[in-house]
Amino acid sequence: MNLVLFGPPGAGKGTQAKRLEEAHGITQLSTGEMLRAEVAEGTPVGQRADALMKSGRLVPDDVIVEIVGDRLSREAGRNGFILDGFPRTVPQAEALDRLLASKRLKLDHVVSIEVDDEAMVERITGRFTCANCGAGYHDTFQRPEVEGVCDACGGTEFTRRSDDNEVTVRERLAAYHAETEPVLRHYEAQGLVRKVDGMAGIDEVTRQLEAVIG
Ligand code: ADP
Ligand code: ADP
Ligand code: ZN
Repeated sequence: MNLVLFGPPGAGKGTQAKRLEEAHGITQLSTGEMLRAEVAEGTPVGQRADALMKSGRLVPDDVIVEIVGDRLSREAGRNGFILDGFPRTVPQAEALDRLLASKRLKLDHVVSIEVDDEAMVERITGRFTCANCGAGYHDTFQRPEVEGVCDACGGTEFTRRSDDNEVTVRERLAAYHAETEPVLRHYEAQGLVRKVDGMAGIDEVTRQLEAVIG
């Protein structure tokens, strides 16, 4: 099963992708995580992407498509993948169509996580992750069971992304409306779009997701 999780920053794509990964043995492919790894390693791609990411703007399509192409090659013949944060522009979606066709792969569902913009600012500014295992948390909506201790691995160090601030998230939401929203029409034309209510609680969103892909 090959999926795209679609929605603005803060919609819950990463949270739900990690649950689907566990439940179905399919691989999360997050372009944001790939880019953060490139930045951390100081590669040429990372050096190009760093300032754009810090300001909340999109990284150029050719850079992203090359990274995704490399990763998709390794997914052929496995259980499937969940694209999280890609495609984010219509040219990226068109490039993905070509990439998939060349590898004899296809998408089964594009799940649109429907949310209110204003709520996304609180989601993003309250987000943090376990520094050890990457499990995702939120100051209000998803606190660890034991304060300061990761539920998944027992780690006690947490990190916050430097772009998860109010100014940058507004820039990212603007980029979403201008450049990413039109991608939904690309997939509506292919009959692939399923909608879930992203304003519901995390468990309820998972239930709806399982229902639309099941
Ligand atoms: P995205 O990958 O779409 O940017 P995340 O999955 O990282 O979004 O979620 C953003 C933040 O909101 C995280 O801190 C997460 O714990 C929290 N969150 C995710 N889904 C929900 C939800 N349905 N209700 C409340 N908070 C949520
Ligand atoms: P979020 O989960 O909050 O939506 P991501 O982790 O997906 O954020 O992305 C972080 C940043 O990485 C984006 O603001 C953008 O600069 C860059 N980025 C990630 N994916 C893409 C993409 N497909 N195209 C262009 N830029 C991207
Ligand atoms: Zn952890």
